[in-house]
Amino acid sequence: QRIRVGIVFGGASSEHDVSCMTAGGVSRAIDADRFDVIGIGITPSGRWVQVPADELRALRKQGDELPRLSESRATAVLLPGEAGGARVATIEGDRLVDLHDFDVAFTLLHGPFGEDGTIQGMFELLGLRYVGSGVAASANGMDKDLMKRHLSASGLPGCRFVTVTDRQWRQQREQSIDRIAKLGYPLFVKPARGGSSVGITKVDRADELEQAVLFAQKFDPKLVVEEAVLGAREIEFAVLGGRGAAPRVSLPGEIVMREAGAFYDFDAKYVSDDDAALLVPTEMDDDLRRRAADVAARTFEAMGAEGLARVDLFITADGHVLVNEINTMPGFTHISMFPSLWAASGLDYTTLITDLIDQALERPVGLR
Ligand code: ATP
Ligand code: MG
Ligand code: MG
Ligand code: MG
Repeated sequence: QRIRVGIVFGGASSEHDVSCMTAGGVSRAIDADRFDVIGIGITPSGRWVQVPADELRALRKQGDELPRLSESRATAVLLPGEAGGARVATIEGDRLVDLHDFDVAFTLLHGPFGEDGTIQGMFELLGLRYVGSGVAASANGMDKDLMKRHLSASGLPGCRFVTVTDRQWRQQREQSIDRIAKLGYPLFVKPARGGSSVGITKVDRADELEQAVLFAQKFDPKLVVEEAVLGAREIEFAVLGGRGAAPRVSLPGEIVMREAGAFYDFDAKYVSDDDAALLVPTEMDDDLRRRAADVAARTFEAMGAEGLARVDLFITADGHVLVNEINTMPGFTHISMFPSLWAASGLDYTTLITDLIDQALERPVGLR
């Protein structure tokens, strides 16, 4: 029996275009012998729309232009469907038209409302199966403050950090600055809930702190300030798995910055071609690789992640493994780190997509 996959993509976020490109790539690579796709797009203004399969497959980069969803499409809604599935329909006046049932949702959204547990909560209420982490793991993974507390409570190693709310910065300025200064400079100031390095500043001196705090507060009233881990390798693992089975961990990948002291910021991720090199896989001695992969698997489990996640680590010059973060909806174009690491580990893009959908289909719906 063919499985109907609702591909949820776009979104009212800065990653809208990347998400559209990813959705095109996934719908072209998906195993057409087993799956039909239905496009469920979210426009830049946040409206839900239906995108037929052929239009979905046509979403791709053209020249330098990334694809976007047009606002001219009619608004659609999701409705409860048959057991474990849902239904999408387009609103026409006071009627619903163009009704399509589907069996499982595959969201390819990043950031707020995509990987932070909110859309996962909507799927739970609809009784709809979906690829990836549930509500709590998504929300805790998105929030670096909650993430770090979970990891440290689980005995997983991370760098020293403090959390600073906007209220603390306003009303307890001196104490906040003291807590931060104890970490020592340089340090990293980050919005608690972010991604793609947006809002993050590396702060080298005390007199640059205020500006970095005000900048990060534009993205989130809650900030995480971390000691800088210097001279470390930046290593990433792709992890698959979940209920009942031990997480599967890929070979390691590495991010190498061209310039000493630079970090993997937004430009290096998406704009400049030569700020950073991605090594997929990277060389690592067997013992260190096993220790690091074990930290990645334990991070996945400690966060309660399901389906997929990319775990980002630092490995210091003296061989200490520290967790930087988990990303429950990692970049998923065929050239992104997550699929590339699996390809290098023997799982091609099409098989990876099948694996994730099969995991989602096995998962019970309702209370769990
Ligand atoms: P992603 O796009 O991977 O979700 P993000 O926005 O969640 O990224 P981080 O991964 O926390 O941001 O940080 C971005 C980059 O900044 C890292 O890849 C690393 O290069 C650098 N960095 C972050 N924290 C530290 C630290 N404590 N010490 C040294 N470098 C750091
Ligand atoms: Mg992140
Ligand atoms: Mg992210
Ligand atoms: Mg990161």
